[in-house]
Amino acid sequence: MRGRYRLGATSVVLVALVVLGGVLSPSCGCAPTGDSRRALLPGAALLPDGFAVAAPWNAGERHRIIRAYDVSTHKGVNRPLRTNDAYALDFDLDVGETVLPVAPGRVRFAGEARGGFATYGNFVLIDHAQGISSLYAHLDSVAVEPGAVVSLETPLGQSGSSGGVRPHLHFALYRGVRLANDPSSVGPYSGASVLPEPFGADRRVGLGRGQCIESGQRTAGFERRWVDAGV
Ligand SMILES: [Zn+2]
Repeated sequence: MRGRYRLGATSVVLVALVVLGGVLSPSCGCAPTGDSRRALLPGAALLPDGFAVAAPWNAGERHRIIRAYDVSTHKGVNRPLRTNDAYALDFDLDVGETVLPVAPGRVRFAGEARGGFATYGNFVLIDHAQGISSLYAHLDSVAVEPGAVVSLETPLGQSGSSGGVRPHLHFALYRGVRLANDPSSVGPYSGASVLPEPFGADRRVGLGRGQCIESGQRTAGFERRWVDAGV
């Protein structure tokens, strides 16, 4: 973005406000990323008609995407014991921030990933309507039990760096995800990676690194109506 690094009185004031506002609004770089259009990967699914998604944190906060996967490295579509995180997003949550569900649902798993999934650390998997599930990984602590019914306001736990990563929230949406859950292997696998496009303006204009999600959209529901592309 032109002029982004030009310092002036306005910038100094803004920097001061950012520093002072640290308590009021968590840090978020919020840099426009320009053209982030992308093509759907094979096997991608879209959220069902009318499925609304909120930001996975408290109202009044915003967070920056530090990584939008959108790559084949986490694809593993419909292969057992491979996580299908093609459209996962990493958000810049620090250790100890409250993580909330993106939609009402029921907790399928809450605890520590193991085996080939161990890098997820502590994670929560929520089942929503219409076969959609959501994942919240690298949590510092988990505040829900499997089977619990959660609303948009139910804290799932606190963000962290478990799984041996720098602090962030790893978020993914799936359709038809399965759960490996035995002592040697615990984690989500298979199913389809769902494009988290309610966070974006258009399903062909994807989310990219540097973009911010405002939690104001949480209360608005920012419902979108996409046509299912099929898997
Ligand atoms: Zn991640």
